[in-house]
Amino acid sequence: MTYNNPFAIAQSQLDEASAFLGLDPATHALLREPMREVTVTIPLRMDDGSVKIFRGFRVQYNDARGPCKGGIRWHPDETLDTVKALAAWMTWKTSVVDIPLGGSKGGVACNPKELSPTEQERLARGYIRAVWRMLGEELDIPAPDVYTNPQIMAWMMDEYSTIRGYMVPGVITGKPLQLGGSVGRDDATARGGIYTVREAAKVIDLDLDGGTMAIQGYGSVGRSLHKLAEELLNLRVVAVSDSQGGIYNPDGLSFKAVSQYKRATGSVVDAPGTETITNEDLLAADVTVLFPAALENVITDENADRVKAKIVAEMANGPTTPEADRILHDRGIFVLPDLLCNAGGVTVSYFEQVQNAYDYYWTLKTIHQRLDRKMSEAFHAVHRVAELKRVHHRLAAYLVAVERVAEAAKLRGWV
Ligand code: NAD
Repeated sequence: MTYNNPFAIAQSQLDEASAFLGLDPATHALLREPMREVTVTIPLRMDDGSVKIFRGFRVQYNDARGPCKGGIRWHPDETLDTVKALAAWMTWKTSVVDIPLGGSKGGVACNPKELSPTEQERLARGYIRAVWRMLGEELDIPAPDVYTNPQIMAWMMDEYSTIRGYMVPGVITGKPLQLGGSVGRDDATARGGIYTVREAAKVIDLDLDGGTMAIQGYGSVGRSLHKLAEELLNLRVVAVSDSQGGIYNPDGLSFKAVSQYKRATGSVVDAPGTETITNEDLLAADVTVLFPAALENVITDENADRVKAKIVAEMANGPTTPEADRILHDRGIFVLPDLLCNAGGVTVSYFEQVQNAYDYYWTLKTIHQRLDRKMSEAFHAVHRVAELKRVHHRLAAYLVAVERVAEAAKLRGWV
C-alpha cells in the first residue's frame, strides 16, 4: 500500500472496516469511491491587472445519510487525492457523531499568504462561481478549513446568495456571527475533544482531577485546549509546543502568559519561567493526557514506545501512523481516534445549519449542552463496539460509522 497517498490510506481504512463488518462487494465498492468529484479552473484577476489560473476541487463523497458537509482548504499542496481522502473522512466523521449529513471536501491549490485581501476575495467568489451548482443547504454545505476563515466564508456566502438572488446563510458554516454564524464554534473542536477525554477517563477508571497534560500545536485548537483544560477537567497543562519547539513547566503553564507571549513573538518558545523542550520531548512527556493538535504522522513506530500518557486524544487529523497505533494499543494506552475526538467542530457547524434553517439562534449554554450530549453519546457508541468486538477504538469508530452509512445506502435501495 502507498502510505504517502492519503486517499490510499483512507481506502485501506475502509477496507479493514468493510472486511470486519462483512459488507457485500457492491456496498464495499460503493463506499470506496466518491460519488462525485469535480476539478475546476478559476481565472483570477490579480491586483496588478494580470490574470493567474488556479485549480479548484470539490468532492462529494457520500450523501446516503444527508446533504454533504466539508470544509474548503486553500493550500499550495492541495490535490484531488487529498480532497478525496478528506471527503471520505468527513463522511465517517459525520456518521460517527450521528448527525444527519454526508461528507465532502473542497480546495484550491494556492498560497493564500501570497494573495492580497482583494485577490483572496476574488478567489473566494471565483471558486463559488465555479462550483455553485453543486452547493446548497440541501445539497452540500462547505465550511472553513486550512487557511480559510470566517471572512472568506462570508464572501463565499455572499457570492452564492448573489447568484441565487436572495440571502442563503445556510449554504456555508463557520460564518461571522453577524451573518448567521453560531456562538461556540470557535472552541468547539477542543471542547468536543475534552468531553471525549472525560468519558474515556470514566470507562478506564482514571482520575483526571489534578492530573497533567501536554499539547502539541498551539494554533486555534491547541490554544483552546489550553484555555479549557483546567476549567473543564482540572488538568494542569505542563507542556505545549508549536513548529519552533516546545516549553515545559511541571508546576503548570499559564494560558494568559503563554498565549500573550505567542501573540507577541510568534512562538511559545522562551516564554518566561519555562524550560525549552523539543517536540519529541513533548510527545514523551510524563503526563496523564497527550493532545496531538498539529500535524499528521507525528506518533510513529520510532517514538510510540516512549509515549507515557494514559490517554492520547487525537485532535489533529491522522497524528498516529498505523504501526504506532498498534504499539500504543499493545501498551494499553487509550487512543481516542481523530474521527471521534475532533468531531466537535463539524457538530457545531451542523448546529449552525440548524439555526440558519430555523432563523432562530441558541444560547452558548445550549450549544455546550448539545455538543456534550453528542460527543458523549458518540464516545459510548464507539466504546461499546470496541469492548464487544475486542478491537481498538479507531477500528471501532470506523465500524460504527461505516455500518451506519452502509445501512442508509441499503435502505435507500442503492445496493
Ligand atoms: P492551526 O493552523 O491554527 O495550528 C496548527 C499549530 O500547529 C500551529 O501552532 C503550528 O505552529 C503548529 N505546528 C506546525 N508544525 C508543527 C510541528 N512540526 N510541530 C509542532 N507543532 C507544529 O490549525 P488548527 O485549526 O489548530 O488545527 C490543528 C489540527 O487539528 C489539524 O490537524 C487540523 O486538521 C485538526 N482539526 C482542526 C479543526 C478545527 O476546528 N480547527 C477541526 C478538526 C480537526
